[in-house]
Amino acid sequence: MLGNSSCSGQENVDVNKTTSESSLVSTQSTKHSNSIESLLMKYYQDIDTIKNNIIVFKNGKSMRFDDNIQKNGIELLDNPDVEDQFRFDYNLSKNASSNTDAGRIRNETFFKFIYGASAAEVQKNLGTILWCPSLVNQRIQVTKKCGVADSLQKVSFALDKHPEWKKYLTSVGGTFNWRKISGTSRLSAHSFGMTIDINIAHSNYWQWDCSCIDERKSLQYKNSIPLELVEIFERYGFIWGGKWLHYDTMHFEFRPEIIDYIRNK
Ligand SMILES: [Zn+2]
Repeated sequence: MLGNSSCSGQENVDVNKTTSESSLVSTQSTKHSNSIESLLMKYYQDIDTIKNNIIVFKNGKSMRFDDNIQKNGIELLDNPDVEDQFRFDYNLSKNASSNTDAGRIRNETFFKFIYGASAAEVQKNLGTILWCPSLVNQRIQVTKKCGVADSLQKVSFALDKHPEWKKYLTSVGGTFNWRKISGTSRLSAHSFGMTIDINIAHSNYWQWDCSCIDERKSLQYKNSIPLELVEIFERYGFIWGGKWLHYDTMHFEFRPEIIDYIRNK
């Protein structure tokens, strides 16, 4: 991890605590300092400091990092703080399935401060890239903020060398779209312009497969997207919805802090 000197990540530990309490505090402190380092490194253009539990953005806005509230599965999805975004470890291995929603837990305020708080604000930063020029040649729009467009262009060039994957890459399902996730009051990551759905024709989405929107239902995982294709997205900072308990195998989302955090664990 390329550390940021503005964040020591040190927290005071009460020496009078029992050994188990101290080691719990210490583990949590290390987890916090690692996640804070990943945030500072990957959003350095927008985040000034994270100190004393406050994230200060370069535009002068600020927000709390950790609300210190214990949450269950649905509460984590409905009302997470930024610290909760690191609650579960994203699965960087080449095994597809996961039993957590690592990366699907998002604090809306954080992403509004980074990418824009309305459709109009996000739109101001959109740029156009040519998606897989040899295989597909489709113009798509994503945000230029945080290097998203540049990173997706690199993904596109790498994927373009794989004609065997053409059926997954044609007819891009969508990129920027300011909208709620169906069945919820949460904004979709597509609202922020840092997300792409590849061809829906070869994708699986938990809501379609279970014909339901209830996130408490148990699901039968399905996927037909090659994991080597997924690995290319991950190389450039995009996590894959196919590694969520509530799977969405067309969905790739720019979350370099999540990948950095796992790589440096
Ligand atoms: Zn999507």
